[in-house]
Amino acid sequence: MKGASSGAPTVEIVTVGDELLLGETVDTNAAWLGRRLAEYGLVVVRRASVGDDRAEIQAAVGAAVAAADVVIVTGGLGPTPDDMTKEAVCARFGLALTMDESLLAGLRERFRRRGYGEMPETNRRQAEVPESARVLPNPVGTAPGLVLEPDGRAVILLPGVPRELRGLMEPQVRDYLRGRFRERLAPVHHRLLRTTGLAESALADRIAAAIPREVGPVALAFLPDLTGVDLRLTVRGVTDPAEATEHLDRVARLLTPVVGSYCYAEGDQDLSAVVGELLRARGMTLAAAESCTGGLIAKRITDIPGSSDYFMGGVVAYANEVKVTELGVDPSLIASAGAVSEEVARAMASAARRRFGADMAVAVTGIAGPGGGTRDKPVGTVWYAVATGESVTARHERFLGDREEIRIRAAQAALALLWLNLRERR
Ligand code: ATP
Ligand code: MG
Repeated sequence: MKGASSGAPTVEIVTVGDELLLGETVDTNAAWLGRRLAEYGLVVVRRASVGDDRAEIQAAVGAAVAAADVVIVTGGLGPTPDDMTKEAVCARFGLALTMDESLLAGLRERFRRRGYGEMPETNRRQAEVPESARVLPNPVGTAPGLVLEPDGRAVILLPGVPRELRGLMEPQVRDYLRGRFRERLAPVHHRLLRTTGLAESALADRIAAAIPREVGPVALAFLPDLTGVDLRLTVRGVTDPAEATEHLDRVARLLTPVVGSYCYAEGDQDLSAVVGELLRARGMTLAAAESCTGGLIAKRITDIPGSSDYFMGGVVAYANEVKVTELGVDPSLIASAGAVSEEVARAMASAARRRFGADMAVAVTGIAGPGGGTRDKPVGTVWYAVATGESVTARHERFLGDREEIRIRAAQAALALLWLNLRERR
């Protein structure tokens, strides 16, 4: 048995559901829990997934209480017959279930308030509570969370619906864990530097050349995805938050000059949010003209609440005729240079700026594949441009990947060009 009384408290996560084993649902609960628990200062030592099967649930939870201080079980708390987590776990620890009348009244009230009429009898089961359990009210659903403490361990049962799980973890489970393990918690402190436009290996080379390998208790990880590479700085084992922040600040200061022109955010902000903030700060408006990204840039921009303050709109100019009729691109330009060309990208950006009466416009034209590539312009060839009142800047790239990946990379590159332009203005 590990860490029962000293050292950081350990956790095993058990996720329940046939759909997880069949691969129909990706187990995002375990991933989310892993991140949160590390932030609180607990150490996840093991994860298990089992189907909707009484014996399997009991075996997994039984093994988990032997392996860790805390067991978090998600899924199978619903009202349907395939939901059996609570009954299985209680039987495993010999805990009787009794009807909690106030929970039951709350459930009935919830159904009435939502206009569903009388509560179906199948939901009664959700108001049954194990003896000596701590009941955590569910702010967004019907199944409450339950904290059991068999043999001095903590077994926490939570619903599988991700929104409900999150609503119960914070603040209720988090506060329970903090209260119970207070002085044993060893929180992990993170800082994220988000970069785009430089490959992971190139980024690693630059960093290796510029900063010492030993940076105290700070570990550096490279997290690449289609939109760029996140640099994650982690401090472990420093309990004083101010001291952890100092360590992170020091390393971030070392990194900034090295990654500066590629680093668009500290934190988990999307590039479109950063671009939005700069547009707002500069009092400028934006329009978009998209071909191969099919509206992805407009989508990313409008994902950000309040984007109507600076985003005028966009056009998906997919067919050449639409580039001509809706944007006013000169058809002879398309005929001579081709739809995927510097000339057409520039013309689309300038035209979108005028058509939408915006201060700036971004445009993308490219070949996302899988068909349509030529020797001169292979699949992945993308031209993108940013037009302002003063100038038009165009770039091109040959992106690798399948159709979806090329579109994601192209949208990110166009947003990055916009970001560079905005950053340089006052
Ligand atoms: P309900 O009261 O809605 O029945 P429940 O506790 O019984 O909740 P499940 O029936 O196991 O939960 O799952 C409900 C939904 O949550 C399903 O759509 C399922 O795909 C999703 N879900 C369950 N477990 C996970 C998980 N580990 N990761 C992501 N999604 C999950
Ligand atoms: Mg269910």
